[in-house]
Parts: sequence; structure tokens; C-alpha cells
Amino acid sequence: MGLPVPRTLSPSKISLFKECALAFRYLAIDRVEEPPSVAATKGTLVHRTLERLLLDPAAERSPKRARQHLPAAWEELSCSPDVTGLDIDDDGRDTLLAEADALLDRYFTLEDPTTVHPIGLEVMLAADVGNVRIRGILDRLELDADGELVVTDYKTGRSPSVYDERTRLLGVTVYAYLCEAVLGRRPSRVQLLYLANSEAIISEPNEQALRGLRNQIGAIWDTVIRACRNEDFRARPSRRCDWCGYKPICPAHGGTGPPSARRDHDPDQLALFDLTAMSPSGRRAINTDG
Ligand code: SF4
Repeated sequence: MGLPVPRTLSPSKISLFKECALAFRYLAIDRVEEPPSVAATKGTLVHRTLERLLLDPAAERSPKRARQHLPAAWEELSCSPDVTGLDIDDDGRDTLLAEADALLDRYFTLEDPTTVHPIGLEVMLAADVGNVRIRGILDRLELDADGELVVTDYKTGRSPSVYDERTRLLGVTVYAYLCEAVLGRRPSRVQLLYLANSEAIISEPNEQALRGLRNQIGAIWDTVIRACRNEDFRARPSRRCDWCGYKPICPAHGGTGPPSARRDHDPDQLALFDLTAMSPSGRRAINTDG
């Protein structure tokens, strides 16, 4: 019968598909909800804190101001499943906030936000690449001193190895493509700011990179369609398994396998399948666009 083909791809889904096709299937096709994790919630918290900081007048964007925004951002998130679903006590919460605070400190070693001229925060863009709709959310779109567009993406983990960097740069090129397709201007620079180890990866997308992107996405899309047709999304165990929310149902780790392997394929039934029965830590709203 085959599996339904996802309607869109995003830089994170492309990256996930390349890392582990089975995890991609759980997220993009079966829409299985992952339980919230401290790492993901910390990332959301830091992103929201930086978003609030960049909404302040430029001269006020200081480390002290960021430290003031952090508890306010936590308060905003406190009713969301990202927080209510976390299996942590008060000490765990304090540790999470202290680690988020340390990431914000490192952010200030990477750039001086008083010099940043944002023209958009959390900007959703979508465009077709060949036969596939690509969607992406830009953490920050800004103009540099020469009036050129710059895209900035915050990463709360460490910068990738040289091998993984190629996958990350594919995501960077997707952002550049989306800007050019939707806004009519290619950014002069796309930068990934890795807060955990204070490293910036900066790319200057050119025509050759965008041409390569179309070819790569076309090849990935063909592979996704073939995998759907054959219902063949294979587990690819790696270090990613250490934090993968799908581990309890992953056959590579003794799990039962994809939902449709355990029942007739019915999208409504699949939507009901979640990991809360297997994890004490609750669930989070799924966002398959990001
Ligand atoms: S636990 Fe590992 S192999 Fe299994 S779905 Fe997650 S990343 Fe893939």
C-alpha cells in the first residue's frame, strides 16, 4: 500500500532523514510525538530569550538585560508541554536555568547584539524546490552595515564535526534559497552561532551552492518517495540514539517498530499513538514544520 508522502520538507527534517530515516518517518509521516527533553526545552528557552533581547532597543541589549529576560521567557513557557511534560524537580529546573544562563553568556562572546539590525525574528518562509515544498523558520533576518541581508540561526548544542558540517551547511543553503525565492534577494551571509562552544559557522551562499541544493534536495525527495512506496525507513543507530525520543519504540533498541507495523495503516489511529505510555516524562506538541 505504501506510506503517505510528507507534504513538506524543512532543513531539520532533511538533516533528520540523513541521520536516521526511521526517526524521520516517526516525525514526518507517523507524526509520533516525542516526549519533551531538557535539552530541547533549554534550546526553546534560549531562543525565546534572545528573541526578546533583540526586540529591545539596540543600546539596551546587554548581558544583564538578557539575564532579566531569561526568567520572563521561562514564565512564558511554563504552561507549555515543553515545561509541564518535563520530568524534573526544582533542582533540575534550577540546573536548566543555570545552563541556559551560561549559553546566553557565551552568546555575547560571539557577537555584540547592539550592532545587530534585525528586520525579522522567527520568520517562516516557504518555497518550492523542484517538486517539493520547503519550509524553514529563520531565527533572525537582519541587514548588515552595507544593507545586505544576513540570516542568523542559533544552535544551543556544540558545533558539528567536519562530516556533519556538510549536512548543516545544506540547511544554511536552504535558508539562502528561501530568502531569494520569497524576498527576491539572496543573503550575503548565513551564520550558525553555536552557543555551547562559542563557535560561528559562516557561509556566503553563491549560485553554484544553490544549484547544488536543488540537485541534493531532488535526490533526497526521490529517496523519501521511494522509501514511502516501499515502506522502508531504516534505523541508523548512532550517537543520536542517546537523546532520540523514539528510542523506546525503535527496533534497533528492542522496541516494537513503527506504528503501522503493529496495526492497519490508518492515519487517525497513528495520530493517537504516542510515547507517553512508554515514557514518564509526558509529551510535547509536535511541530513538523521546523
Ligand atoms: S533510537 Fe537511534 S536508530 Fe532508533 S530512531 Fe532514534 S536515532 Fe534512529
